[in-house]
Amino acid sequence: MQISTISFDGDMTLWDFLQVMRHSLKHTLLELQKQRPTPRTLKLTIDEMIAIRNQFAEEVKGELWNLEEIRLRAFERTLEYVNCPDKELAAHLNAIYRKHRFEDIELYPDVIPTFDVLAPHFKLGLLSNGNTYPERCGLEGYFAFVVFSQDVQIEKPDRRIFEITAERAGCELAEMLHVGDSLENDVAGARNAGVYSVWLNRKGEPNDTEIRPDYEVTSLAEIPEILGLGGK
Ligand SMILES: [Mg+2]
Repeated sequence: MQISTISFDGDMTLWDFLQVMRHSLKHTLLELQKQRPTPRTLKLTIDEMIAIRNQFAEEVKGELWNLEEIRLRAFERTLEYVNCPDKELAAHLNAIYRKHRFEDIELYPDVIPTFDVLAPHFKLGLLSNGNTYPERCGLEGYFAFVVFSQDVQIEKPDRRIFEITAERAGCELAEMLHVGDSLENDVAGARNAGVYSVWLNRKGEPNDTEIRPDYEVTSLAEIPEILGLGGK
């Protein structure tokens, strides 16, 4: 294995997206309940808001790519669901959501120390199906390339997004290592494209799929050793 380039998944690999998403929805829901304190809104839950967003995203899959647009339209849907259709209020809720969503995101504690060890030896980049920008969470300057599925309109695990990434990085697919938490999107996607894969399994969950990563780690801090850089 001759690796020159490492691409990282974003959500749940470098930052805890689910936590910041739920936390941002909580602020949004409180604002909705303050503005429209009806029995319907007071009963609305964060899980219902997530389900409405995911259902909408599924309906527009392949047509609407911009995740911020999907988010806004999902708030409009949510207001219809609680019998308060109001596009202006949806835009206001969306602004509150965005403020928390982008300002309150935190990196996992192993990210910066690992990047500091890897950066002098490898070209590092981001390959994400999400929309958290690295400069918004303290990673400015670390990445030589950044690929978002919403921009190229191809999502992991499609092998073509790995090809685009290698092209942007200026390396061969076989010189690339991709690190991510999703067996399907990150590991199977990478393997299918001829890219080496690391499965980041932070909680040490069993792998009950047929998908076999080249390496499995529970922390990013294990990656330098895999690449022959010794200590953690
Ligand atoms: Mg992920």
